[in-house]
Amino acid sequence: MKKLPIVFILIFCIFLCGCVKKPQTSLDEIKERGNLIVGVKFDAKPFGYVENGELQGIDIDIAREIAKNIFDDESKVEFIEVTSENRISKLMSGEIDIIIATMTDTPERRLIVDFSDPYYISGQAILCKKDSDVTSVADLKNHNTIVVIGTTAEKTLRKFYIRSNVIRALNYEEAFAAVNKDSCLIADEALLQGFVIDNQGYQIFNKKLSQEPYAVAVRKDEPELKHEVDYTIKYLETSEKLDKIRKKHLQ
Ligand code: GLU
Repeated sequence: MKKLPIVFILIFCIFLCGCVKKPQTSLDEIKERGNLIVGVKFDAKPFGYVENGELQGIDIDIAREIAKNIFDDESKVEFIEVTSENRISKLMSGEIDIIIATMTDTPERRLIVDFSDPYYISGQAILCKKDSDVTSVADLKNHNTIVVIGTTAEKTLRKFYIRSNVIRALNYEEAFAAVNKDSCLIADEALLQGFVIDNQGYQIFNKKLSQEPYAVAVRKDEPELKHEVDYTIKYLETSEKLDKIRKKHLQ
């Protein structure tokens, strides 16, 4: 007679365990889904860009390495285009799992997202047409200054008190197209070099206006996913694979 309630309680517990699902971490969900969704740039050579109809670059290769670490298969990755302005909101809304998009690790951004160790260090510089009068950041006060919205170049405008004649571009494609005799672009030197390789008649000034350590961004509440990202970056660094990836895309 006494055993009946115990059996009943046990059955009830088993039933409860079946109903209450263990809260899933994002890494569990990613594994269940079967691919990693990464926010990347499509117009930022040599990091994320389309050539001959194919998405390629340093950021793309790093994303494939992270997928390889999680799934043992580097093809298990989906790329979603992001801009400097919308990448954090796309991450926070869950549209993408991580950002690998020429994104600088800054104290301000650290308040919102977590960053991996840096995988590349760039610095800002100025891109002008060869026939422009601008040769330094001081000359920009009498010309138009182009910046891409949502980038650290906006901070540089404040640092050098460049308040007037600012052209704000939505992305790099638009920013490069706006450069002319009277308008120069402030952006990361690595991206400016990537543009100059394919385009004649431009020059780059004031290299290293800032320090831009590029890192992978992950939502703050996802330590398991962050661990996989950190592990991959460490592995790429120590195995010198990161160096190979950088050399493959930087000419
Ligand atoms: N690295 C800079 C930044 O994160 C500029 C490049 C970019 O926006 O992607 O703001």
